[in-house]
Amino acid sequence: MHIDHYAKHSIVIIGGGFAGALTALKLLDRAEVPLSITIIEPRGELGRGVAYSTTEPVHLVNGPAEIFSLYPEESHHLVRWLEENGPANGWQLPADAAMSSPPRYLYGTYVRDELNRAIRQAHARSTFRHIRSAAAKLVSAPHKISVTTADGTSIEADEVVLALGVFQAEPLPREAPVASHFRFAANPWDPAALDRLVDCRELLLIGSSLSMVDAVASMEARGYRGKYRVISRRGQFVEGRRNAEAARDFLADRPLPTTARSLLSAVKAERRAIAAAGGDWQGLPLAIRPYVLPLWQQANDQERLRFGRHLRAFWDVTAHRSAPESNGTVQAVIAKGRLSHEAARLLGLTPCGDRIEAAIRTRRGDERQILDGVINCRGHQLHDWRRIRDPFVESLLDGGEVRPHSTGFGIDATPEGDIISEEGRIHRNLSAIGHPLRGVAWESSSITEQRTQAIALAERILGKITPAVSVAS
Ligand SMILES: Cc1cc2nc3c(=O)[nH]c(=O)nc-3n(C[C@H](O)[C@H](O)[C@H](O)COP(=O)(O)OP(=O)(O)OC[C@H]3O[C@@H](n4cnc5c(N)ncnc54)[C@H](O)[C@@H]3O)c2cc1C
Repeated sequence: MHIDHYAKHSIVIIGGGFAGALTALKLLDRAEVPLSITIIEPRGELGRGVAYSTTEPVHLVNGPAEIFSLYPEESHHLVRWLEENGPANGWQLPADAAMSSPPRYLYGTYVRDELNRAIRQAHARSTFRHIRSAAAKLVSAPHKISVTTADGTSIEADEVVLALGVFQAEPLPREAPVASHFRFAANPWDPAALDRLVDCRELLLIGSSLSMVDAVASMEARGYRGKYRVISRRGQFVEGRRNAEAARDFLADRPLPTTARSLLSAVKAERRAIAAAGGDWQGLPLAIRPYVLPLWQQANDQERLRFGRHLRAFWDVTAHRSAPESNGTVQAVIAKGRLSHEAARLLGLTPCGDRIEAAIRTRRGDERQILDGVINCRGHQLHDWRRIRDPFVESLLDGGEVRPHSTGFGIDATPEGDIISEEGRIHRNLSAIGHPLRGVAWESSSITEQRTQAIALAERILGKITPAVSVAS
């Protein structure tokens, strides 16, 4: 008797952005048995998704290159890749590549090239294909899942992974009257929409986080020399990243806070202690990050929702900082008196000839301003699956294959990522990675978190494949 016949395990990954491409890469690199992998992704290149499809060199990854290797066991892999491939891809190598923030298009090229390397070096009998379409329907059975794409292709798989990323919110009713106005950029990464704003004298930017930084960098690179009026609901403003050391592990050796309020007071106390010692608060999120998963998973839904309502904006602005170079651009614009920022709420936008009138509620009262152009910088933030207007998401919910997470963030799943159906059944062959797991893990969208998830998911899938025993005659 010998053990050499493996039924070729077929895995379909829906969504070929960062998380989907990385899951495929980890499967191919780790498999000792032949696999049949299919990625369904409408975009032409795998690995890019929303974040790394930009072609603008001023859109940078927000952390230092030294933390974004695809291989945690080879932490210098990305830095070496950049040294070897950056200049040929139009990037001038900085003196300290490890601490630099490379352009996001270049990071996407790294992911794409590494996936291609994994495909070339995979088990000789493994197959890989990219179907350039969107998944439209999925029907699960205990041992097989069938997926149909928008172009009518049908695939049967042993295992399916949802790597759908995050969706952009529909325009709000208050923005709808200008949705098709030529001076309204609904998407801050739409180059054609930004091109139309270059000759404006004043722009309204709605949102003050990393998407706003991208928009300012894009407009400056285009030669825009007018003013920016930035508004945000809470008056937070994204800061530039300093290369601070992680703060002391202040959450270790004590019971973890179980409420949003007790977490906030522990963090505030530590921040005061850091300030008193002359330290940099930017080390604080680095100390908190390893605890995000246990903190989230041990909290009940009431506390998770409290966090979402009251602390999320503070956490986002603390944890997600901009690359120093991008921050430099924003600070230079502020120093010239060209960018103002305040806490204010947009009440409505209406067309006013070739300009746009904005109704804004500020702390001083309500006001109306006629602007040359408006950029929506709220980014891709729609996590509530019940509000996503996407045919595949709607069909997964309508068919009962998935159910929304009880917090309203993403979908319900086990802590490992096995999806839970509407009836409460755990799918053993349908899992998710990244943004759909927001309600399960909270922070599940950054490169480093998705890297950890992709490795764990690949190992779980491969661990299920058992050799078929054949009798040698
Ligand atoms: C602008 C931006 C910048 C960012 N910068 C950073 C950064 O610097 N550092 C960092 O750590 N994180 C960053 N992030 C976080 C980012 O979310 C992750 O790094 C990563 O790109 C997310 O990968 P993903 O695969 O989950 O989503 P995506 O990469 O967006 O991929 C999802 C893919 O699913 C596809 N899809 C959707 N529906 C279907 C369907 N029905 N059928 C088939 N395919 C479908 C989409 O076309 C898309 O390509 C950034 C995010 C954004 C939006």
